[in-house]
Amino acid sequence: MEKIALFPGSFDPITKGHEEIINKGLNLFDKIVIGVGVNAGKKTLFSVEDRLRIIGDIFKDEPRIMIMQYQSLTVEFCKKVNAGFILRGLRSGLDFEYEQSIAFANKELDAHIETVFLLSSPSYSNISSTIVRDIIVNKGDYSKFVPKGFKI
Ligand code: ADP
Repeated sequence: MEKIALFPGSFDPITKGHEEIINKGLNLFDKIVIGVGVNAGKKTLFSVEDRLRIIGDIFKDEPRIMIMQYQSLTVEFCKKVNAGFILRGLRSGLDFEYEQSIAFANKELDAHIETVFLLSSPSYSNISSTIVRDIIVNKGDYSKFVPKGFKI
């Protein structure tokens, strides 16, 4: 059976940190679905269309990556795309605290879906979408923090 992982997130916008987790994930899974979560209550800098397009530009030559938007519970979306795994990145102990509670909740909701955590490299562990958004809004050079092929 194909091993499919869902990499869910806001990706507002995608960063080099996300890209590293996706690339490491490609060594473990046959396919990765990048799920761009749409949360009506959350204000984002980039529209969902822009976030999907930016990610699509970056991974246009990788046939094992699919990019989709979703609005449902993450475990429900996993079932829709046949993903048996949820992929998440960990930068620090703080990430771990937060991620552990989400993973436990998802396990309660669907015991068949396993959350897999990958550690970010030290050089990427300080990158966050929040920092990249700040640099973009203040017209700074954000190119060091985003993947090659990132076009606003
Ligand atoms: P969310 O809004 O669900 O936290 P994000 O888009 O911020 O979504 O992040 C998606 C996933 O990527 C999360 O697992 C997060 O911990 C991880 N992540 C974010 N930035 C990095 C980074 N620099 N290195 C590794 N993982 C990261």
